[in-house]
Amino acid sequence: PPQVRKISEKHDKVFVTGCLEPQVNGPRANAAFVVLARNKELDGVVQSMKSIERHFNRWFHYPYVFLNDGEFNETFKETVLKHASAPVEWGKISPEMWGFPDWVDPAVAKEGIAKQGDAAIMYGGMESYHHMCRFYSGMFYKHELLQKYEWYWRLEPEIKYFCDITYDPFIHMIREKKTYGFVIAVKELKETVPNIFRYASAYMRVNNLTSKGLWEMFVEKPEKPEDAAKDKKKKKKPPPQGILNSESGLPEIDPEAMEGEKYNMCHFWSNFEIASLEWLRSKEYNDFFEMMDRSGGFWMERWGDAPIHSLAAGALLSPKDIHYFRDFGYRHTTIQHCPANAPNRQLPRIPFLEMTTEDEKKRKEEDEYWATPDPPRENGVGCRCR
Ligand code: GDP
Ligand code: MN
Repeated sequence: PPQVRKISEKHDKVFVTGCLEPQVNGPRANAAFVVLARNKELDGVVQSMKSIERHFNRWFHYPYVFLNDGEFNETFKETVLKHASAPVEWGKISPEMWGFPDWVDPAVAKEGIAKQGDAAIMYGGMESYHHMCRFYSGMFYKHELLQKYEWYWRLEPEIKYFCDITYDPFIHMIREKKTYGFVIAVKELKETVPNIFRYASAYMRVNNLTSKGLWEMFVEKPEKPEDAAKDKKKKKKPPPQGILNSESGLPEIDPEAMEGEKYNMCHFWSNFEIASLEWLRSKEYNDFFEMMDRSGGFWMERWGDAPIHSLAAGALLSPKDIHYFRDFGYRHTTIQHCPANAPNRQLPRIPFLEMTTEDEKKRKEEDEYWATPDPPRENGVGCRCR
């Protein structure tokens, strides 16, 4: 077995382990970067590509799949090719995957969207944003260009990676039997998803699913026993029936059964995601998506793909299926994850293959730490919702 030097708790890991050589000769996964973008986002796309190439892909050369509901222009394509160290494919999104499905009355949906605009809900009044969220929730993995892949790594314009990623996270996830990987978990804006949780929990109930331990991550725990009692007394309004009701395939939702379970707004921030396409293509995931879709929440509310992916994971997966990329330095707009602030900060960023049993034990403890509800909030950083 490879010799792993003991890491002193007192020293910064870089002085003990030195820089890690990228593991370039290992096996590759059947995987690609997925980038949804518009021509006008070229500068942001270039920034993201420079960052991921410099910190990872110049060694690993994973291909890119670019998707757009419109056509990419020549300038966009030429510029992207200049920054890619791997093949790039260009995909047009068909109207069946973008926009209103035929069972929706566009006039009703547009009115719903306009109302959210009037209510100043973030992106609520922007129709294209609703389409984007629905596409990332239940469509992108059905795109023909992604059929040959088993894994994807989502890349957005205007993101930054801070640290070199010297191992292959896909291979790591496959070996560890993971399904979904995240780097940041945050709280959603309440007004964008007022009814998302009742539908997600209705999905659990209708399909006789019980939590495998991850669901609890998304359930708000009443702070005090008195509050819990008050919550119980409050008559819950029945949820809206969506834009369809008859033949909608919607489950009967019994508001009484909702009592005691409230969404805490926590979700994996999906602008970074490394996940299994096979999971997204599974019958369970697509049943979940379809039920959520049929409720009309992608239009009458502004459900993001982040809470959709997260609640699907909560309903279908267990903590051991999830990987927290605690060692990735990542920033998107104003929120970032810095590995130095993650719990157990002295843990060296050693490649999976060179981990000692002791390291593995530590990682397991960390996994339990983030998956456990209501932990102490040290520094307010790490994978905790903040
Ligand atoms: P935010 O991160 O929530 O502020 O949303 P973004 O504006 O970054 O959009 C999320 C992703 O979807 C980014 O990759 C955008 O490039 C992409 N996107 C958003 N709206 C559209 C659209 O109308 N067309 C296309 N092709 N891409 C879009
Ligand atoms: Mn973005």
